[in-house]
Amino acid sequence: MIRTIRKIGDPILRKKAKKVEKITRDTLKLIDDMVETMHHAHGQGLAAPQVGVSQRIAVVEVPKADDIPGSGVLYTLINPEVIKQSEETWEYPEGCLSIPGWRGDVARPYRIVVRALDRHGNRVKYEVEGHVARAFLHEIDHLDGVLYIDKLVSPDRVWRVNEEPLEHPA
Ligand code: ZN
Repeated sequence: MIRTIRKIGDPILRKKAKKVEKITRDTLKLIDDMVETMHHAHGQGLAAPQVGVSQRIAVVEVPKADDIPGSGVLYTLINPEVIKQSEETWEYPEGCLSIPGWRGDVARPYRIVVRALDRHGNRVKYEVEGHVARAFLHEIDHLDGVLYIDKLVSPDRVWRVNEEPLEHPA
């Protein structure tokens, strides 16, 4: 089921989301809906608060490209935690499904290690880099009520874009 994506101004986007204590049938339904909603919106990631659920769940799927490691893989992150990050950072434009029509440059660590639970409740650890690491970090920020516009490399490095095609919304 496609869920409604909350837009900037909705207070749920600014709340710290709650840890998932137990993966229930509702949790799995939520995850399936988030994946469907992300695909429908041509996004590269989606966090539960963006569909109005204040829980620490995110999905990421960067479209398959030969030069992007970890692309074409659907990641489900429950209670994700960044346990390592490279000192090396890189700037790249980000967009957000909750802030349609805008892009802005954000610096992020190039490589990270994230610990999380998968949908079966198994502990998983992902070492990801580049665009996939950026998508993970963008989504994990959502779980803390943080939006990419809070992290612009400079206040003037944000610009309007046409709604379609959406290139890097998350
Ligand atoms: Zn976003």
